[in-house]
Amino acid sequence: MDVKTHVPQRRCIACRGSFPQSDLIRVVDTPEGLRLWEKGMSGRSCYICRNSSCVGTAFEKNCFARSFRKEIRKTDLAELRKLIDITD
Ligand SMILES: [Zn+2]
Repeated sequence: MDVKTHVPQRRCIACRGSFPQSDLIRVVDTPEGLRLWEKGMSGRSCYICRNSSCVGTAFEKNCFARSFRKEIRKTDLAELRKLIDITD
């Protein structure tokens, strides 16, 4: 593997496709609830494509619960949805 050209690939929780990490929305499971990743944050993460289709599927099917292997409260989902600014 060529380290210089290697781009980390992550799997979208909605379409299950693998894409460069930088192309995906990263969601982190924090003690305060689900948040969009910011520099310095740690914790379990999951990834979603930056498009309304995958974001819609992720919330409709609650792919977060599967990805984080725990129940996600509806209020936490609603809060997270407000943080994701997808317009396409
Ligand atoms: Zn996707």
